[in-house]
Amino acid sequence: MSRIYNFSAGPSMLPMEVLNRAAAEMTDYEGSGMSVMEMSHRSKVYQSIIDDAEARLRRIMGIPENYDVLFLQGGASLQFAMVPMNLLKTSADYVVSGEFSGKAYKEACKYGSICLAATGEANHFTKIPAQSELSLTPGADYLHICQNNTIYGTTWHYIPETASPIVADMSSCILSEPVDVSRYGLIYAGAQKNMAPAGLTVVIIRHDLISEPMSFTPTMMTYAVHAKAKSMYNTPPCYQIYILKLVLEWLENLGGLTAMQKLNREKAALLYDYLDGSSFFRPIADPDSRSMMNVTFQSPSAELDDAFVKAAAAAGFSNLKGHRLVGHMRASIYNAMPREGVEKLVAFMRDFEKANA
Ligand SMILES: *Cc1c(COP(=O)(O)O)cnc(C)c1O
Repeated sequence: MSRIYNFSAGPSMLPMEVLNRAAAEMTDYEGSGMSVMEMSHRSKVYQSIIDDAEARLRRIMGIPENYDVLFLQGGASLQFAMVPMNLLKTSADYVVSGEFSGKAYKEACKYGSICLAATGEANHFTKIPAQSELSLTPGADYLHICQNNTIYGTTWHYIPETASPIVADMSSCILSEPVDVSRYGLIYAGAQKNMAPAGLTVVIIRHDLISEPMSFTPTMMTYAVHAKAKSMYNTPPCYQIYILKLVLEWLENLGGLTAMQKLNREKAALLYDYLDGSSFFRPIADPDSRSMMNVTFQSPSAELDDAFVKAAAAAGFSNLKGHRLVGHMRASIYNAMPREGVEKLVAFMRDFEKANA
Protein backbone atom coordinates (compact mmCIF):
# COMPACT_ATOMS: atom_id res chain seq x y z
CA MET A 1 0.00 0.00 0.00
CA SER A 2 1.29 3.45 -0.78
CA ARG A 3 -0.06 6.72 0.60
CA ILE A 4 0.40 10.04 -1.14
CA TYR A 5 0.65 13.45 0.49
CA ASN A 6 -2.81 14.84 -0.12
CA PHE A 7 -2.93 18.65 -0.01
CA SER A 8 -6.65 18.78 -0.79
CA ALA A 9 -8.67 21.65 0.70
CA GLY A 10 -11.43 19.24 1.67
CA PRO A 11 -12.36 16.50 2.03
CA SER A 12 -8.80 16.10 3.17
CA MET A 13 -6.36 13.82 4.95
CA LEU A 14 -7.30 12.00 8.14
CA PRO A 15 -4.65 10.79 10.61
CA MET A 16 -3.28 7.33 9.73
CA GLU A 17 -3.92 6.22 13.34
CA VAL A 18 -7.60 7.06 12.91
CA LEU A 19 -7.92 5.25 9.59
CA ASN A 20 -6.18 2.16 10.98
CA ARG A 21 -8.36 2.11 14.08
CA ALA A 22 -11.53 2.52 12.00
CA ALA A 23 -10.35 -0.31 9.75
CA ALA A 24 -9.67 -2.58 12.73
CA GLU A 25 -13.13 -1.82 14.18
CA MET A 26 -14.91 -1.89 10.82
CA THR A 27 -16.84 -5.14 11.14
CA ASP A 28 -17.01 -5.55 14.91
CA TYR A 29 -17.06 -2.47 17.12
CA GLU A 30 -15.88 -3.32 20.63
CA GLY A 31 -17.46 -6.76 20.68
CA SER A 32 -20.89 -5.52 19.55
CA GLY A 33 -20.76 -7.87 16.56
CA MET A 34 -21.51 -5.01 14.17
CA SER A 35 -19.95 -2.10 12.42
CA VAL A 36 -20.72 1.40 13.71
CA MET A 37 -22.37 1.87 10.29
CA GLU A 38 -24.91 -0.81 11.13
CA MET A 39 -25.92 0.32 14.59
CA SER A 40 -29.16 1.89 15.68
CA HIS A 41 -28.49 5.46 16.70
CA ARG A 42 -30.83 4.79 19.63
CA SER A 43 -28.71 1.92 20.94
CA LYS A 44 -26.73 2.11 24.16
CA VAL A 45 -23.48 1.37 22.40
CA TYR A 46 -24.00 4.19 19.91
CA GLN A 47 -25.11 6.60 22.64
CA SER A 48 -21.76 6.07 24.33
CA ILE A 49 -19.97 6.99 21.06
CA ILE A 50 -21.83 10.28 20.55
CA ASP A 51 -21.56 11.16 24.26
CA ASP A 52 -17.83 10.52 24.16
CA ALA A 53 -17.42 12.63 21.00
CA GLU A 54 -19.25 15.55 22.62
CA ALA A 55 -17.39 15.24 25.93
CA ARG A 56 -14.02 15.18 24.17
CA LEU A 57 -14.90 18.14 21.95
CA ARG A 58 -15.97 20.11 25.03
CA ARG A 59 -12.78 19.20 26.86
CA ILE A 60 -10.41 19.87 23.97
CA MET A 61 -11.97 23.19 22.93
CA GLY A 62 -12.83 24.27 26.48
CA ILE A 63 -16.48 24.80 25.54
CA PRO A 64 -18.28 26.48 28.46
CA GLU A 65 -21.30 24.82 30.08
CA ASN A 66 -23.73 27.40 28.70
CA TYR A 67 -23.05 26.31 25.11
CA ASP A 68 -24.85 23.52 23.25
CA VAL A 69 -22.94 21.26 20.89
CA LEU A 70 -25.00 20.09 17.92
CA PHE A 71 -24.10 17.38 15.41
CA LEU A 72 -25.99 18.27 12.23
CA GLN A 73 -25.98 17.63 8.48
CA GLY A 74 -26.22 19.82 5.39
CA GLY A 75 -22.61 21.04 5.46
CA ALA A 76 -21.41 24.46 6.48
CA SER A 77 -23.50 25.74 3.57
CA LEU A 78 -26.79 24.92 5.30
CA GLN A 79 -25.65 27.09 8.21
CA PHE A 80 -25.59 30.05 5.80
CA ALA A 81 -29.42 29.81 5.96
CA MET A 82 -29.92 28.32 9.42
CA VAL A 83 -28.03 31.12 11.14
CA PRO A 84 -30.28 33.96 9.90
CA MET A 85 -33.48 31.89 10.15
CA ASN A 86 -32.77 31.29 13.85
CA LEU A 87 -30.80 34.34 14.97
CA LEU A 88 -31.97 37.23 12.82
CA LYS A 89 -34.60 39.41 14.50
CA THR A 90 -33.83 42.96 13.31
CA SER A 91 -30.56 43.14 11.39
CA ALA A 92 -27.14 41.49 11.20
CA ASP A 93 -23.64 42.48 10.07
CA TYR A 94 -21.60 40.38 7.66
CA VAL A 95 -17.95 40.66 6.69
CA VAL A 96 -17.23 39.31 3.22
CA SER A 97 -13.61 38.18 3.30
CA GLY A 98 -13.77 35.49 0.63
CA GLU A 99 -15.97 33.08 -1.26
CA PHE A 100 -17.81 31.31 1.57
CA SER A 101 -18.51 34.46 3.57
CA GLY A 102 -19.86 35.95 0.31
CA LYS A 103 -22.22 33.01 -0.03
CA ALA A 104 -23.26 33.33 3.61
CA TYR A 105 -23.96 37.03 3.07
CA LYS A 106 -26.04 36.43 -0.07
CA GLU A 107 -28.04 33.71 1.64
CA ALA A 108 -28.73 35.83 4.72
CA CYS A 109 -29.99 38.69 2.52
CA LYS A 110 -32.96 36.48 1.60
CA TYR A 111 -34.21 36.59 5.17
CA GLY A 112 -33.99 40.15 6.37
CA SER A 113 -31.94 43.28 6.82
CA ILE A 114 -28.24 42.53 6.39
CA CYS A 115 -25.44 45.11 6.52
CA LEU A 116 -22.12 44.62 4.79
CA ALA A 117 -19.63 45.44 7.56
CA ALA A 118 -16.65 45.17 5.21
CA THR A 119 -15.58 43.46 2.00
CA GLY A 120 -12.13 42.45 0.86
CA GLU A 121 -13.10 42.53 -2.79
CA ALA A 122 -10.96 45.58 -3.66
CA ASN A 123 -7.76 43.76 -2.66
CA HIS A 124 -8.91 40.46 -4.16
CA PHE A 125 -9.47 38.98 -0.71
CA THR A 126 -5.76 38.79 0.05
CA LYS A 127 -6.30 40.58 3.37
CA ILE A 128 -8.57 40.45 6.41
CA PRO A 129 -10.08 43.87 7.16
CA ALA A 130 -8.76 45.65 10.25
CA GLN A 131 -11.04 46.50 13.16
CA SER A 132 -11.00 50.16 12.06
CA GLU A 133 -12.35 49.14 8.64
CA LEU A 134 -15.45 47.41 10.02
CA SER A 135 -18.68 49.39 9.92
CA LEU A 136 -20.72 47.76 12.64
CA THR A 137 -24.40 48.40 13.26
CA PRO A 138 -25.27 49.20 16.88
CA GLY A 139 -27.74 46.62 18.13
CA ALA A 140 -27.12 44.13 15.31
CA ASP A 141 -28.34 40.65 16.21
CA TYR A 142 -24.94 39.21 15.34
CA LEU A 143 -21.75 39.74 13.34
CA HIS A 144 -20.91 36.95 10.89
CA ILE A 145 -17.31 36.24 9.92
CA CYS A 146 -15.51 33.41 8.18
CA GLN A 147 -12.55 32.74 10.49
CA ASN A 148 -10.33 31.09 7.88
CA ASN A 149 -10.79 31.70 4.17
CA THR A 150 -10.07 28.32 2.64
CA ILE A 151 -9.88 29.50 -0.96
CA TYR A 152 -7.80 32.68 -0.54
CA GLY A 153 -5.60 31.40 2.27
CA THR A 154 -6.31 34.18 4.75
CA THR A 155 -7.32 34.07 8.39
CA TRP A 156 -8.52 36.43 11.13
CA HIS A 157 -5.67 36.90 13.57
CA TYR A 158 -7.88 38.92 15.89
CA ILE A 159 -11.42 38.61 17.20
CA PRO A 160 -13.43 41.71 16.24
CA GLU A 161 -14.59 43.99 19.05
CA THR A 162 -18.35 44.24 18.91
CA ALA A 163 -21.28 44.31 21.30
CA SER A 164 -23.11 41.77 19.09
CA PRO A 165 -22.54 38.02 19.34
CA ILE A 166 -20.01 36.80 16.79
CA VAL A 167 -21.05 33.97 14.49
CA ALA A 168 -17.99 32.31 12.94
CA ASP A 169 -17.62 29.81 10.12
CA MET A 170 -14.62 27.78 11.33
CA SER A 171 -14.90 24.97 8.78
CA SER A 172 -11.26 25.10 7.74
CA CYS A 173 -9.57 26.01 11.03
CA ILE A 174 -11.53 24.37 13.84
CA LEU A 175 -9.28 22.26 16.12
CA SER A 176 -6.14 23.76 14.55
CA GLU A 177 -5.37 25.95 17.58
CA PRO A 178 -6.90 26.94 20.92
CA VAL A 179 -9.92 29.24 20.66
CA ASP A 180 -11.73 31.21 23.34
CA VAL A 181 -15.23 29.90 22.66
CA SER A 182 -16.73 32.39 25.14
CA ARG A 183 -15.87 35.22 22.72
CA TYR A 184 -18.29 33.75 20.17
CA GLY A 185 -22.06 33.38 20.10
CA LEU A 186 -22.05 30.58 17.56
CA ILE A 187 -19.32 28.57 15.86
CA TYR A 188 -20.05 26.23 12.97
CA ALA A 189 -17.88 23.96 10.87
CA GLY A 190 -18.28 21.37 8.16
CA ALA A 191 -16.33 18.34 9.35
CA GLN A 192 -14.46 17.45 6.17
CA LYS A 193 -11.38 19.61 6.73
CA ASN A 194 -10.15 19.03 10.26
CA MET A 195 -12.63 16.73 11.95
CA ALA A 196 -14.13 13.80 10.05
CA PRO A 197 -15.43 12.72 6.63
CA ALA A 198 -17.98 14.94 4.85
CA GLY A 199 -21.59 14.76 6.07
CA LEU A 200 -21.27 16.15 9.59
CA THR A 201 -21.58 19.79 10.63
CA VAL A 202 -20.68 20.80 14.16
CA VAL A 203 -22.51 23.79 15.66
CA ILE A 204 -21.48 25.27 19.01
CA ILE A 205 -24.09 27.76 20.17
CA ARG A 206 -24.48 29.84 23.32
CA HIS A 207 -27.63 28.54 24.93
CA ASP A 208 -29.39 31.90 25.32
CA LEU A 209 -29.13 32.53 21.55
CA ILE A 210 -31.42 29.60 20.84
CA SER A 211 -34.85 31.13 20.32
CA GLU A 212 -38.00 30.90 18.25
CA PRO A 213 -36.90 30.91 14.58
CA MET A 214 -38.67 32.60 11.67
CA SER A 215 -42.14 31.13 11.24
CA PHE A 216 -41.39 29.31 7.97
CA THR A 217 -38.21 27.64 9.28
CA PRO A 218 -38.26 23.88 8.66
CA THR A 219 -38.20 21.78 11.81
CA MET A 220 -34.90 20.26 10.68
CA MET A 221 -33.37 23.74 10.49
CA THR A 222 -34.39 24.78 13.98
CA TYR A 223 -31.56 24.91 16.54
CA ALA A 224 -34.00 24.54 19.43
CA VAL A 225 -35.22 21.21 18.06
CA HIS A 226 -31.73 19.74 17.73
CA ALA A 227 -30.59 21.14 21.07
CA LYS A 228 -33.61 19.71 22.88
CA ALA A 229 -33.14 16.29 21.24
CA LYS A 230 -29.36 16.29 21.89
CA SER A 231 -28.69 15.90 18.13
CA MET A 232 -31.03 12.89 18.00
CA TYR A 233 -34.16 14.49 16.58
CA ASN A 234 -33.60 12.25 13.56
CA THR A 235 -30.78 9.92 12.57
CA PRO A 236 -27.53 11.83 13.00
CA PRO A 237 -24.51 11.19 10.73
CA CYS A 238 -23.50 8.27 12.95
CA TYR A 239 -20.29 7.12 11.32
CA GLN A 240 -18.90 10.65 10.89
CA ILE A 241 -19.48 11.31 14.59
CA TYR A 242 -17.63 8.08 15.39
CA ILE A 243 -14.66 9.17 13.23
CA LEU A 244 -14.75 12.57 14.95
CA LYS A 245 -14.47 10.73 18.26
CA LEU A 246 -11.36 8.91 16.97
CA VAL A 247 -9.87 12.16 15.67
CA LEU A 248 -10.44 13.79 19.06
CA GLU A 249 -8.76 10.85 20.82
CA TRP A 250 -5.80 11.27 18.47
CA LEU A 251 -5.71 15.01 19.22
CA GLU A 252 -5.82 14.47 22.98
CA ASN A 253 -3.00 11.93 22.82
CA LEU A 254 -0.98 14.46 20.87
CA GLY A 255 -1.38 17.04 23.65
CA GLY A 256 -4.52 18.90 22.61
CA LEU A 257 -4.89 22.18 20.78
CA THR A 258 -1.77 23.87 22.19
CA ALA A 259 0.41 21.06 20.87
CA MET A 260 -1.54 21.03 17.60
CA GLN A 261 -1.08 24.78 17.18
CA LYS A 262 2.69 24.46 17.69
CA LEU A 263 2.88 21.75 15.04
CA ASN A 264 0.67 23.69 12.63
CA ARG A 265 2.73 26.86 13.10
CA GLU A 266 5.91 24.93 12.35
CA LYS A 267 4.42 23.36 9.23
CA ALA A 268 3.11 26.69 7.93
CA ALA A 269 6.42 28.44 8.69
CA LEU A 270 8.31 25.85 6.63
CA LEU A 271 6.26 26.82 3.58
CA TYR A 272 6.01 30.59 4.15
CA ASP A 273 9.72 30.94 4.98
CA TYR A 274 10.61 29.16 1.79
CA LEU A 275 8.10 31.21 -0.25
CA ASP A 276 9.37 34.50 1.24
CA GLY A 277 12.93 33.60 0.30
CA SER A 278 12.14 32.28 -3.17
CA SER A 279 12.52 34.48 -6.24
CA PHE A 280 10.46 32.01 -8.27
CA PHE A 281 7.41 31.20 -6.15
CA ARG A 282 5.46 34.00 -4.49
CA PRO A 283 3.00 33.81 -1.57
CA ILE A 284 -0.40 35.37 -2.37
CA ALA A 285 -2.00 36.26 0.99
CA ASP A 286 -0.95 39.44 2.79
CA PRO A 287 1.65 38.55 5.47
CA ASP A 288 -0.60 39.85 8.27
CA SER A 289 -3.53 37.69 7.18
CA ARG A 290 -1.81 34.42 6.33
CA SER A 291 -3.63 31.17 7.00
CA MET A 292 -1.92 28.33 8.84
CA MET A 293 -4.17 25.83 7.07
CA ASN A 294 -4.33 26.91 3.42
CA VAL A 295 -1.15 28.31 1.88
CA THR A 296 -1.72 30.02 -1.48
CA PHE A 297 1.16 30.76 -3.86
CA GLN A 298 2.08 31.24 -7.49
CA SER A 299 4.96 30.81 -9.92
CA PRO A 300 6.01 33.39 -12.55
CA SER A 301 3.38 32.22 -15.09
CA ALA A 302 0.18 30.25 -15.53
CA GLU A 303 2.12 27.75 -17.69
CA LEU A 304 4.65 27.17 -14.92
CA ASP A 305 1.81 26.88 -12.39
CA ASP A 306 0.36 24.07 -14.51
CA ALA A 307 3.70 22.38 -14.98
CA PHE A 308 4.35 22.54 -11.24
CA VAL A 309 0.99 21.04 -10.28
CA LYS A 310 1.50 18.18 -12.77
CA ALA A 311 5.08 17.46 -11.71
CA ALA A 312 4.12 17.58 -8.04
CA ALA A 313 1.25 15.14 -8.56
CA ALA A 314 3.58 12.74 -10.38
CA ALA A 315 5.94 12.94 -7.39
CA GLY A 316 3.19 12.06 -4.88
CA PHE A 317 2.04 15.56 -3.81
CA SER A 318 -1.57 15.71 -4.90
CA ASN A 319 -4.25 18.42 -5.10
CA LEU A 320 -1.95 21.45 -5.15
CA LYS A 321 -3.99 23.23 -7.80
CA GLY A 322 -5.66 26.34 -6.39
CA HIS A 323 -9.43 26.78 -6.33
CA ARG A 324 -10.90 27.32 -9.80
CA LEU A 325 -11.93 30.87 -8.80
CA VAL A 326 -8.40 32.07 -8.08
CA GLY A 327 -6.09 29.65 -9.88
CA HIS A 328 -2.41 29.41 -8.92
CA MET A 329 -1.55 26.91 -6.17
CA ARG A 330 -2.80 26.07 -2.73
CA ALA A 331 -1.32 23.66 -0.22
CA SER A 332 -3.87 22.75 2.43
CA ILE A 333 -1.96 21.56 5.46
CA TYR A 334 -4.62 20.62 7.97
CA ASN A 335 -3.98 18.85 11.28
CA ALA A 336 -3.55 15.42 9.69
CA MET A 337 -0.86 16.50 7.22
CA PRO A 338 2.38 15.24 8.77
CA ARG A 339 5.31 17.64 9.10
CA GLU A 340 7.27 15.31 6.86
CA GLY A 341 4.78 15.94 4.03
CA VAL A 342 5.44 19.68 4.18
CA GLU A 343 9.22 19.21 4.43
CA LYS A 344 9.19 16.98 1.37
CA LEU A 345 6.96 19.41 -0.53
CA VAL A 346 9.35 22.30 0.20
CA ALA A 347 12.30 20.17 -0.97
CA PHE A 348 10.38 19.38 -4.16
CA MET A 349 9.62 23.09 -4.69
CA ARG A 350 13.30 23.97 -4.27
CA ASP A 351 14.23 21.43 -6.93
CA PHE A 352 11.48 22.70 -9.23
CA GLU A 353 12.68 26.27 -8.75
CA LYS A 354 16.26 25.29 -9.60
CA ALA A 355 15.18 23.46 -12.74
CA ASN A 356 12.81 26.18 -14.00
CA ALA A 357 14.08 29.56 -12.78
C1 LIG B 1 -15.50 24.01 2.87
C2 LIG B 1 -16.07 25.23 3.45
C3 LIG B 1 -17.44 25.54 3.38
C4 LIG B 1 -18.42 24.67 2.64
O1 LIG B 1 -18.67 23.56 3.37
P1 LIG B 1 -19.78 22.49 2.94
O2 LIG B 1 -19.70 21.52 4.07
O3 LIG B 1 -19.33 21.94 1.62
O4 LIG B 1 -21.08 23.18 2.84
C5 LIG B 1 -17.89 26.68 4.00
N1 LIG B 1 -17.05 27.49 4.65
C6 LIG B 1 -15.73 27.25 4.73
C7 LIG B 1 -14.84 28.19 5.46
C8 LIG B 1 -15.20 26.11 4.13
O5 LIG B 1 -13.88 25.87 4.21
